[in-house]
Amino acid sequence: MGGEQGAVTALAAVATAPDGPFEFQEVEVLPPRADEVRVRIAAAGICHTDVAVKEQSVQLPLPMVLGHEGAGVVEAVGSAVRHLRVGDPVVLAGDSCGECRRCHAGLPFYCDEFVERNLTGFRVDGSSPLSCEGAPLRGRFVGQSSFATQVVATARSAIKVPADLPLELLGPLGCGLTTGVGTVLNALKPPAGSSIAVFGAGTVGLAAVMGARLAGCARIICVDVRPARLAMAEAVGATDTVNAAEEDATEAILDRVPGGVDFSAECSGVAEAVTAAVHCLGRPGWCAQVGATPAGTQVPLDMDHVGFGRGIRGVVMGDANTQTFVPYLAALFRDGRLPYDRFVRFYDFDAIDQAVHDSAVTGEVIKPILRMPAA
Ligand SMILES: [Zn+2]
Ligand SMILES: [Zn+2]
Repeated sequence: MGGEQGAVTALAAVATAPDGPFEFQEVEVLPPRADEVRVRIAAAGICHTDVAVKEQSVQLPLPMVLGHEGAGVVEAVGSAVRHLRVGDPVVLAGDSCGECRRCHAGLPFYCDEFVERNLTGFRVDGSSPLSCEGAPLRGRFVGQSSFATQVVATARSAIKVPADLPLELLGPLGCGLTTGVGTVLNALKPPAGSSIAVFGAGTVGLAAVMGARLAGCARIICVDVRPARLAMAEAVGATDTVNAAEEDATEAILDRVPGGVDFSAECSGVAEAVTAAVHCLGRPGWCAQVGATPAGTQVPLDMDHVGFGRGIRGVVMGDANTQTFVPYLAALFRDGRLPYDRFVRFYDFDAIDQAVHDSAVTGEVIKPILRMPAA
């Protein structure tokens, strides 16, 4: 497979500054190297992390092409790629080396080279598959930079998905859904009949609610401050909801489950929610910290709530091995057991700023997905 394809041009939405819109630029996409593939992006979800980097509350270097929930079709494969062919539909996820101890253990998001491969915007050797007007442009965000019509990613980042599912819906399986469902099924592993509190009813929190339902949790309490999002949480499996703008979350949860819940998943990144997610635990109880808190956040914990077998652990990307977990999620979606399409809204690629506004500013949309223009 493979062979010598030349560079192609693509349209990319470049994040250049915290204020001001994304800048649409024509970029040059270099041919894939031996271990890489070029993917024509069909659609890309917008995740909170994209917005955080654009706005620089997470300070990664700009300009950079963001986007890390890409879905598309393989158009060119490098000479060493075995598991993908031209024409395969794929979802893109973060990159990893495949050779370190954590990669061998099936935990690619704890890879020794995670930062270099996903957060610098460049390959580990400092090069980029993208350039603009002759200058290299950061084009490897979370292994992909999928706010573009074409990307070059490592084959490890590209996960083949079933051709009979609507490809434009599948990108969020690579981050938001993996993170939420994986945190419950892979990290917390609640036994059937147990109780869990989920903080934050965005994509990740709602995915955690759906994961808890899949695990057979008897009580699934979702906490948020927006009534519409709490209603969605009930629609996808929450047994109880708490509006933290109206009542104290810890007290409300202890009211509903006397003695405290067996598990919690903190998906909001709000400091007060981290405290509540630990204080609402029963004995024993585990909290998974998933939401990205702003840099330097300090959280007060009453140590009376940490003794007796309770604790908090940070979880990245749901402790998932995406090459196997994303196809599993796709199968769940096909069966109607992961109905995240209920909280998706599609936007044309050139409406990216509107999509960010509707999800990150007003919160009216939970998961915006950008549809890329046809070639
Ligand atoms: Zn994400
Ligand atoms: Zn590794």
